[in-house]
Amino acid sequence: MSTSDTSSPLRGARFGTIAVHAGTEPEPVTGAIMTPIFQTSTYVQPYPARHKGYEYSRTQNPTREALERCVAGLEGARHAVAFGSGMAAIDAVLRLLEQGNHVVAGNDLYGGTYRLFKTVYERFGIQFTFVDTTDLDAVRAAIRPETALVWIESPSNPLLRVSDLAAIAEIAREHGALPVADNTFATPALQRPLALGCALVVHSTTKYVGGHSDVVGGAVATDDDELAERLRYIQNAAGGIPGPFDCFLTLRGAKTLHLRMERHCDNAERIAAFLQQHPRVARVHYPGLPEHPGHEVAARQMRRFGGMISFVLDGSVEDGCRLCTRTRLFALAESLGGVESLIEHPPSMTHAAVPAEVRRAAGLEDGLIRLSVGIEDAEDLIADLEQALAR
Ligand SMILES: *Cc1c(COP(=O)(O)O)cnc(C)c1O
Repeated sequence: MSTSDTSSPLRGARFGTIAVHAGTEPEPVTGAIMTPIFQTSTYVQPYPARHKGYEYSRTQNPTREALERCVAGLEGARHAVAFGSGMAAIDAVLRLLEQGNHVVAGNDLYGGTYRLFKTVYERFGIQFTFVDTTDLDAVRAAIRPETALVWIESPSNPLLRVSDLAAIAEIAREHGALPVADNTFATPALQRPLALGCALVVHSTTKYVGGHSDVVGGAVATDDDELAERLRYIQNAAGGIPGPFDCFLTLRGAKTLHLRMERHCDNAERIAAFLQQHPRVARVHYPGLPEHPGHEVAARQMRRFGGMISFVLDGSVEDGCRLCTRTRLFALAESLGGVESLIEHPPSMTHAAVPAEVRRAAGLEDGLIRLSVGIEDAEDLIADLEQALAR
């Protein structure tokens, strides 16, 4: 079912209903309620160039289309285009640009995004300015006549900084630039960037949208017909598509996004409160805490505050690393957004490529720990952290 079709029962439906139904129609041949995995590369034509809308699976695939309609529904968008990873989705957005264009981006972006911008696209004559997007004056000052995109992540990784999406979108549009939000951390269950004025939303569906740590994928959603058409052209021309089985897994995960996010948020709120009163914890970064510098903006633009927390352990890099080896339920791993809880030490793992001085100047302290709080029982997660911190 599609949310934009006027006759659809999903028109005006609430988020949970959309999550369950968007994108899936009973399969016409058998009535299968779940969209099958159309594991095919090509489609038979009765006569040359006469076909049923499917010619070749890079160009069209029914399982992928079901996922794309689902993601569009979740983001309240007219269109979504799926890719083989979050990075492939981000790469497709960058391919909308031309040589000489300039991009203003946050200064604490996902490391892979920073790497793609700096080491790949700069070589093709695209210029980047990285600014603190929590500071609207800094965003305004960074814009140039050739600025084509303003790239925002909120909440950011790993410090959970919050940027005002509506205000930044307005600044970008005033200057003829497209505001783009990476909504991976918040998910559409908590934050809808298009409704706040962004032109494009990107996702690593690997994280919360898929939600089960069993598939890598990405998507871009937009309300703009022309941008959607250009992204589809890039999807087919450059070929960064997801396979049908990966689309099936992501679609299956997305159907419970609303339920999972409530539990992620419940658990994260309780763990943030626990950490805040712990004597070995110097600081907790969680937008749901009233003393978090972005709390007010987050309360305005997010429905709840998400499942990601970072905190500073009083101590050295080694103390931070040791803590990560002592938890028994929180698994030591990169990535986030799955049903199971994860712990990691950004200074030596996800953010190790950032030089120590740059890292510290950006507020990434040596004892920083990041949690992806899962959907287990909060009491067990807190007991796990308690024993790990006590040792
Ligand atoms: C993981 C992640 C990406 C990259 O997505 P992949 O699916 O790993 O390619 C981009 N942005 C954010 C915020 C992420 O967490």
